[in-house]
Amino acid sequence: MTKTVDCPTCGTAVAWTSLSQFRPFCSDRCRLIDLGEWFSEERKIAGDEQTRSSDLSVISLSDEDLALLEED
Ligand SMILES: [Zn+2]
Repeated sequence: MTKTVDCPTCGTAVAWTSLSQFRPFCSDRCRLIDLGEWFSEERKIAGDEQTRSSDLSVISLSDEDLALLEED
């Protein structure tokens, strides 16, 4: 009896054997789709942190500091 797993991307049953080289994905395409979603999620989190830190730097600047920055 061969164990099968569901492809995380499309849900297709994939035989858990050495013949299924992309397991747990059914194909290289599904594997790349899943990796792509993971990477875009990482980028989104990094972007949020960047926004927060720039907000903090604006709050810590006084009006005089901002005026000096504008002169440059
Ligand atoms: Zn698939």
